[in-house]
Amino acid sequence: MTMTVNTPCLPSVAVVGVGAMGAMTMWRLAEAGFAVTGYEQFGVPHDRGAHGAETRIYRMAYREGEVYIPLLKHSYRLWHELNGLADRSLFIQNGCLYISDMQRPWLDETIASAQAHDIPIVELTDADLAARYPQHRLYGGERAILDLLGGTLRPEQAVLAAAQQAVKAGAVLRDYSPVRDVVPLGGAVEIVLEDGTRDRHDYAVITSGAWTSAFQRDLGFGITARRLPGTWYPAADPASFSPARFPVCLRSAGDLDYSGFPSVDGWSVKVMPPVFPDTETVAETTDRDIRPRDIAYTRRVARELLHGLIDRPARTGVFLDGFAETDLPVIDYADGTDRVLGAVGFAGHGFKYSPSVGQLLTDLVAAHAGLAPGELAGTELPFRRSTTIRSTSTE
Ligand SMILES: Cc1cc2nc3c(=O)[nH]c(=O)nc-3n(C[C@H](O)[C@H](O)[C@H](O)COP(=O)(O)OP(=O)(O)OC[C@H]3O[C@@H](n4cnc5c(N)ncnc54)[C@H](O)[C@@H]3O)c2cc1C
Repeated sequence: MTMTVNTPCLPSVAVVGVGAMGAMTMWRLAEAGFAVTGYEQFGVPHDRGAHGAETRIYRMAYREGEVYIPLLKHSYRLWHELNGLADRSLFIQNGCLYISDMQRPWLDETIASAQAHDIPIVELTDADLAARYPQHRLYGGERAILDLLGGTLRPEQAVLAAAQQAVKAGAVLRDYSPVRDVVPLGGAVEIVLEDGTRDRHDYAVITSGAWTSAFQRDLGFGITARRLPGTWYPAADPASFSPARFPVCLRSAGDLDYSGFPSVDGWSVKVMPPVFPDTETVAETTDRDIRPRDIAYTRRVARELLHGLIDRPARTGVFLDGFAETDLPVIDYADGTDRVLGAVGFAGHGFKYSPSVGQLLTDLVAAHAGLAPGELAGTELPFRRSTTIRSTSTE
C-alpha cells in the first residue's frame, strides 16, 4: 500500500493494530482531519486475528442487548458509505435469518427489541421457512425471523477498504511494524516499535484485539484471547447457498447453536460453532490446529440442520478475538492517562459495528482536544467508564 505523508493541523494520533477496529478508526480519524499513523504487526488485512474467515454477519435486531443498537444503526449508514467508496462489494444486504426451536427465550427477546427500536423484521412460521429456505432441515415447531437490514459483510476487504480510504485522506499506514510499548508522557504518547524506533504522537488508540494483553501492564484493559474455529463444508449444489438464496443465519436447535454463511467462494458454506468456554489462549503462541471437538460439532450441524452439504469439511481455520472481563467491550481511556484510549474485547461479535467504534474513538479524541463534538457525542454507551463522551479536556 502507498504511504502518504500528510501535513497535519489537527493533533496526531497513533492507531496501534490495524485490524477491524483500527482500520475503521484510521478512516474516521483521517476523514475528520487528524494526522493519523496506523501501526500493524502483520499485513493489512491478514488472516491471523479477528477479521479473517471471509464473511461476517451484520444484523440489527440484537440478541446480545439493546445497548448496541445506537452503534448498529450508525454503522449501517457507514457500511453503505464505505461500500459506495470502495472498489469492491463489502456488504451484501441479503437479510439475517434467526431460527429457534421453542425451548429458548432469545427469539422472543430479539423480536421485542426489534419492535421497540423500529427495526424491520418479518416473522416466519416453520411452513414459511420450509418454503422460502429449504436449505434448513426442520423438525417441526421452529420459529424464525428475517432481519431485513441484516446481511453478509466481507471482513478482509472491509479492513482493506477502510485503510485505503484513510490513506487517501492523508493517513500513514505502517504495516509489518509491531509495536512493543505505548508510553504516556504527560501531554504526548511515545510509540516504541520492535526495532527500537520511537515515534511521538499527541494521542494513541489501542485496537490490538487478541494481542492486547501485551499492553495491559499499565493500561488496565483486562483482555484475554480466545480461539474461534471456522469450518467450510462443500455444497452439493452451491447455487442454492448463494447470497441471493441463503441469508446469513443464527440457529438454536436442541443442544446445537451455530451461525451459517452463504457461499462466497462458489463451492463451500461456512459453519461456525459458538464460542466454547475452554478456548482461552495466548495470541502470540496459540495453536492454529482445529480440534476434533470443533469438527464433530459443526459436522453435526452440517448433517442434522442443513440439507445439501457434504459433511466433511474442505477447509478449516483458527482465528482469535479479544474478550473483556464482562460481556461488554472496553471503549475507554487507559488507566492513568487521557492520551491513550482503547477499543478492545469485542468477544466474537464486534465486526458489524466496527465503523461506529472508529467514529466513537474519533469523537472521544476530538472532545478531549477541545474540537467540535462528533457524530456520536452525547450517545449513552455503557462501555466501562466512558458512559458519555466527555466534552472537556481533563488536562
Ligand atoms: C472467526 C470469527 C467470526 C466472527 N464472526 C462475527 C460476525 O459474524 N459478526 C460480527 O459482528 N463479529 C464477528 N466476529 C467478531 C469480530 O470479527 C471481532 O470482534 C472484531 O473483528 C474485532 O476487531 P479487532 O480490531 O479488535 O481485532 P483484529 O481485527 O484482530 O485487529 C487487531 C489488530 O491488531 C494488530 N496488533 C496486535 N498487537 C499489535 C502490536 N503490538 N503492534 C502492531 N499491531 C498489533 C493485530 O495484528 C490485528 O491486526 C467474529 C470473530 C471471529 C474471530
